[in-house]
This record gives sequence, structure tokens and C-alpha cells, in this order.
Amino acid sequence: MGSDTTAITEFMTAKGHEQVVFVTDPPSGLRAIIAVHSTALGPSLGGIRFWRYPSEHDAVLDVLRLSEAMSLKASAAGLHQGGGKAVVLWDDPDAARSEALLRAMGRAIDELGGRYIAAEDVGATPRDMQVIASETPWVTGIEGPGGSGDPSPMTAYGVVKAMETVLEELDGHPTLAGKRVVVDGVGHVGSHLTRLVADAGARVAVADVNPERVDVLVREIGADALPVEGALEEVCDVLAPCALGGVLNKETIPRLQCRAVCGAANNQLADPTDDDALAARGIVYTPDFVVNAGGIINLAEEFVGYDRERARARTAQIAGTLRRVFTLAREEGVPPGRAAEQMARRRIVEEGAGRRWKPGDPAAWTNGAPLRTLRPA
Ligand code: NAD
Repeated sequence: MGSDTTAITEFMTAKGHEQVVFVTDPPSGLRAIIAVHSTALGPSLGGIRFWRYPSEHDAVLDVLRLSEAMSLKASAAGLHQGGGKAVVLWDDPDAARSEALLRAMGRAIDELGGRYIAAEDVGATPRDMQVIASETPWVTGIEGPGGSGDPSPMTAYGVVKAMETVLEELDGHPTLAGKRVVVDGVGHVGSHLTRLVADAGARVAVADVNPERVDVLVREIGADALPVEGALEEVCDVLAPCALGGVLNKETIPRLQCRAVCGAANNQLADPTDDDALAARGIVYTPDFVVNAGGIINLAEEFVGYDRERARARTAQIAGTLRRVFTLAREEGVPPGRAAEQMARRRIVEEGAGRRWKPGDPAAWTNGAPLRTLRPA
């Protein structure tokens, strides 16, 4: 993509984005971009990222890519939700946001009338989200009555369901007991995942650049501590990347010694063709956006009146989604990442039928799906 606006609309056309909104509020210094990739299946949902970008061009590219990824994630998860994302250009990661800036962001989201529904993302704090939510009802994941709160435990639960499914694919039965699992990155999701996997009887080894997070799990559940540098190369049944994106790349893939990769990190493949490289090594890759959908499934439940047990039941369906991905991959002779993307895009085209959600529309479209109403603005 070039740096002029024509190139932006060309990129949007190629990738199917509906709308990009540039937002400024000179008195508070707000500079933000909201991208709505698709509302074909319902209102777009995605986090607000506060980030220091090398240039505005990088920020546009990031929000366009991230919003498209959210559409694929929501579609694969079977949600009546589209994909969106917002970035706030934020140069000093340590500086607190002014209330005026956050309120201006809330008003910008409100003006979209529900076409974009916000959630917390990298760089955002619960306090930021509370202030934004004071200006608009179109915010999810807020603590308190009706809110679904921290999505990490649900994301970790979904990863466990995916791990069981990949073990079933490999061994014919979904049991984690006795298996060796390496969790790389034990922050919010990784620490919950480690506990769940250990409870299921697996032998867990953990690594993190923050040694305190590793120590807690070593003390609490007897996890093995691994050095960060060697964690990806550890011999194991399942490697669970739960830190950064891009960990599966030309350098790391030849050195992996796992049978399957199944973790929460977003954008694990540095390049789409890395999916083929994993398949060529006989390693089963479980597509990240299918595996880590527990968080967005949890958020989407807020629109029908949040119920934790229902959110868990829906998250457990990640197992069935992954089975369908493996079946499609076999039928089409493609690696699982590509099969999952095909499946997600197909649903947007077939079920979404080119529609665009507008304020006042029901949350879900009527073709076979139950009609749901969003909470009033
Ligand atoms: P987090 O920041 O709480 O945890 C990340 C952990 O990784 C931290 O403990 C950090 O110290 C560690 N880390 C950073 N660099 C590392 C490295 N090079 N090697 C090993 N460890 C390293 O984040 P999180 O909420 O647990 O999310 C983890 C990943 O899962 C992210 O990629 C996120 O986008 C993705 N994800 C999270 C959710 C959710 O519900 N939180 C949902 C979907 C996807």
C-alpha cells in the first residue's frame, strides 16, 4: 500500500473493507483510526489498540489488517458478528490518557451507532475502557453488571478444547493426561492455560521473559521452567505459543520438535506459506484465529445478556470447528491455516450475502439464525 489515500481505498477494495474513519479531537490531542472490515454477518467487533506507530501509514495498515483478521475470527467462530478494530496513535506508552481524549474516542465510536463495537486491546487499560464506555454503549468486556470482564480464562479454556481436538486427530483420543505441553508466554492466557492443562494430567513446561511469572507456576503446580531461547525447540506433544505473533517462521520451523502447535497468540505464522512448511515437517498447525476465539465468543455473549455457562458451552464448540477445519484441509489438500481461512471467508460470502449492518438493524440476520436485539443505545 502506498501512502496516498487512493492506495488506501484500493487496499480496502482488495480486502473487502467497508469503512475507515479517521478521528481527531484537537483540544485533547486524540488521533485515531477506526476500521470496519465487514458487517455482513452482524455489527463489527474488535479491540482498541493504543500504540506508538513509526508512521501514520503503518497505523492505517495495522488497523486494516487487524480488522480483517477479526472478521475471519468471528466468522470461523460462527458468531453473528463482523470484524472491526481501532487504533489510537499514542506516542508515549507510559503516559496516562486524559479523560477528555478518552471521552472524544467514546463519542467517535458512538457516532457509528453500533457498526463498530469496541473492546480492550494492547495498550488499553480497564480504566480507559470505563471512560470510553461513559460516552457510548458500544463497548464490550467492561467489568461490572452485564459485562463479561477479563476474557483470558475463556480464551485459555478454548485453547484446551482445541488441544484435545488436535490430540484426537493425532492419536485417535483427545486425552491430555501424560502428554508433554510447552506453554511459551505465561501472561493472562498462558498462566490460565498452564493450570488447566496441568489439571487435565499433562506434564507442562513454561517459559516467559518475565521470570516471576514462571516461578509462580513452578511453585504452584510443579511446572518445569524453560529458558526463553530454547522453549520453541523443546521436545513435546503440543507447543502452545501464548506470547507474541510471528513465532512460526523460516528460522524457527526447522527447529521445532513438537507434534502440534496449538496456542493463543495472534498471527503466529510470520508468513502464510509457513503453514506449508509446518505441514511438510509433519507438524499439525491449529489455526490461531480458530483456537483463540474464546475471548471474542465471551464478548459476543454480552449482547444476549451475559451468561458464563453459555459462553463456556459456545467456547467448547471450538472443538467442532477445528474438526471441520481438519476435514476441509484433507478434502482440499491444503494446510489447516488455509482451510480455516477458506471456511471463514465462505461463510461471510454465503451467509452474509453482501449485506451491511446499519444502526437499528437486528444483531443477527434472519436467514435461519435466531434474531437477536442489541442492547439499546
Ligand atoms: P499478556 O501480555 O498477558 O501475556 C504475554 C506474556 O508473554 C507475558 O507474560 C510476557 O512477559 C510474555 N512474553 C513476551 N515476550 C516473550 C517472549 N519472547 N518469549 C516468552 N514470553 C514472552 O497477553 P495475553 O492476554 O496472555 O495474550 C497472549 C497472546 O494471546 C497475545 O498474542 C494475544 O494477542 C493473544 N490473545 C489473547 C486473548 C485474551 O483473551 N487475552 C484472546 C485472543 C488472543
